[in-house]
Amino acid sequence: MFDNLGEGEDNWSDRQSVGSGKDARHFQLEKHLVTDSRNKKVGSFLTIHDLTEDVLKHQKEIYKATHDKLTGLFTKEYLFDRIHDSLTANRDKQYWVAYIDIKDFKLINDIYGKEMGDEVLREIANWMRMHSDPSWVYGRLAGDTFGICYASERPRVAMIEQHISEFTFKSGTFKQNLLMHVGIYKVSDPDLDISIMFDRAHLALTSIKNEYNSHVAIYDDKMREQMLWEQKISSQLEKAIEEKQICAYLQPIVNISGKIIGGEALVRWLHPKEGFLSPIKFIPVFEKNGMIVDVDKHIWRCACETLASWKTQPDKKDMFISVNISPKDFYFIDVFSEIQGLIKEYDIEPRRFRIEITETVVMNEVENCMAILNKFRKAGFIVEMDDFGSGYSSLNQLKDMPLDVLKIDMKFLGGSNDNSRATTILKNVIRLSDELGLSSLTEGVETESQYRMLSDMGCHLFQGYYFAKPMPIKDFEELCVKQQA
Ligand code: C2E
Ligand code: MG
Ligand code: MG
Repeated sequence: MFDNLGEGEDNWSDRQSVGSGKDARHFQLEKHLVTDSRNKKVGSFLTIHDLTEDVLKHQKEIYKATHDKLTGLFTKEYLFDRIHDSLTANRDKQYWVAYIDIKDFKLINDIYGKEMGDEVLREIANWMRMHSDPSWVYGRLAGDTFGICYASERPRVAMIEQHISEFTFKSGTFKQNLLMHVGIYKVSDPDLDISIMFDRAHLALTSIKNEYNSHVAIYDDKMREQMLWEQKISSQLEKAIEEKQICAYLQPIVNISGKIIGGEALVRWLHPKEGFLSPIKFIPVFEKNGMIVDVDKHIWRCACETLASWKTQPDKKDMFISVNISPKDFYFIDVFSEIQGLIKEYDIEPRRFRIEITETVVMNEVENCMAILNKFRKAGFIVEMDDFGSGYSSLNQLKDMPLDVLKIDMKFLGGSNDNSRATTILKNVIRLSDELGLSSLTEGVETESQYRMLSDMGCHLFQGYYFAKPMPIKDFEELCVKQQA
């Protein structure tokens, strides 16, 4: 049963295992010499301790400390250790670290319950065990995220697309397709902290987080620069608002006879170091982190201050300012109370403060949104649907949307090669707007011929570079004076 029981003279001890796998048993063998009073060897005896239970207990403890309880995969900490070992043991190989996230997993938990959510995670773990290459090191990072490290000359995007990016979960008759997003980081320095490698893979993932068609993104240093830039401008926002680096420009809105009847407030950031910053650059950043609320509250206040100062100016006392409301504003604050509060504070007629919402707002939370818009309209505000035609399901929503103005986006016709079809669409959108009892406003009017065509089609209001670009409030006021002359 035991090998090499040692013929030597000395005391010795040894550990030996018998059998393998679950049936293995572990023993501690010790040989003890027996001597007489003169220290002369007179014999020896062997003790055998069965350590199987202790060994199993110890193995269980190690397993518990290194494996995730729910899925049986490596825990994040152990995964990192194992990846570190692989990377440092094989420095000549090219490694990749992949961060996997289940898209909309929260919905599974919310709709079907936590138990179903847990089952999905267990199934994904089984599926990883079955489909992974034996050389991969993988584990569960947290919640619904998993990590893999693999060696390869290339990132193997096609393989990931094919095997990892989609997963069908089946339980009895229940079947659900799950989409996975994967961010990949190319390991360029094996000594870099593993958590930093996963942070970078995660950063790549966030670039496609809201997408349904792209599943895999590879990290590059530009992503890191962008993230650092986003952090920087976010940290500067409060001061920028205080110091009025961030201000509202106004772009004139004209009626059919070309007369300015109001303007749209558009945010501008005159950054002391970066110069003029386009809202297209910074608004998505603040929409992502919720700071858009601070920007918008500031612009709404600027609009109110301006409207209040116009009350005593005959040429402008009837003019309106429309402001943009981000979908995120509805999420973070009570937009109605906020704006109602400002209107009261500055004693402004609500009809002079127009609010522009986009289709995305309505898509997210239809009923709640309708109720809020109704509140605005009942209080006398004018509600405009911005960028109409550039999003989805516009026509369907129009039928019950509490709106006053449809702002038609000229840009949505820009890509069309067939001008006559584009014209037909525009004409019919304007007619539709009329029949629904809405005013039509076309934005992005750049040429006189566009203005003429739109007027012939019956469009009521116009905005675009043909009339004027967005400008500082002072310039807008001067333009109004010139128009009077
Ligand atoms: P928007 O609300 O649809 O504003 C119209 C955009 O079209 C403005 O871009 C304006 O400068 C531009 N534009 C006006 N006329 C023409 C034209 O004839 N041709 C072309 N090509 N463009 C024209 P801007 O100011 O860069 O703003 C871009 C977007 O950023 C806005 O689109 C709006 O969605 C958002 N935005 C701007 N200011 C704010 C704000 O204060 N709050 C929020 N939440 N979003 C804002
Ligand atoms: Mg707008
Ligand atoms: Mg627009």
